[in-house]
Amino acid sequence: MEEKRVFQDKWENLYFFTEVKDKIQCLICQQTIAVPKEYNVRRHYDTMHREKYDAFTGKIREEKVQQLKAAFAKQRNLFSGINKSSEDSVRASFVISEMIAKSSRPFTEGLFIKECLMKASEILCPDRKKVFEGISLSANKVACRITDLADNVQKQLIQMAKDFEVFSIALGLEMFCNKVSQSLNSPNEF
Ligand SMILES: [Zn+2]
Repeated sequence: MEEKRVFQDKWENLYFFTEVKDKIQCLICQQTIAVPKEYNVRRHYDTMHREKYDAFTGKIREEKVQQLKAAFAKQRNLFSGINKSSEDSVRASFVISEMIAKSSRPFTEGLFIKECLMKASEILCPDRKKVFEGISLSANKVACRITDLADNVQKQLIQMAKDFEVFSIALGLEMFCNKVSQSLNSPNEF
């Protein structure tokens, strides 16, 4: 493990490089270095940035590094925020599709639900409108989500059935649905 940690802190000031999740990345152009050796890092700096950035020396150079690092961190947080909200939108799309399926409503209800959500969000949280816009509820999307959920339930059922010693099948739609939803985890994990 020790050998993996090859990044040296002094590279920050020397070559404007930082370490992000095991990757060594240029703070100026954000290119990553595949083989984190000082030679590669120095060569990148020499060929790409030395001309402009050698002008920064001493305290000013340190400040410049910190400034670039802060901007870079801010950008990363922004991206992870976007990813988080799009993941939440997908989750919401699954949950609503599951509700449509369980209540035996047509897939096209998704569009109406989306309209309702949009109207409510305009009133309650206009600054979060974009997040609601991202929830896909077209008839096709709802159909896909429900198929995914059904596949997941089927997989769970097959997995569980491996431990069965005996089993009986009770036919009756309502009873089957109840049994399945009681004994299986809600499959909207992805
Ligand atoms: Zn660079």
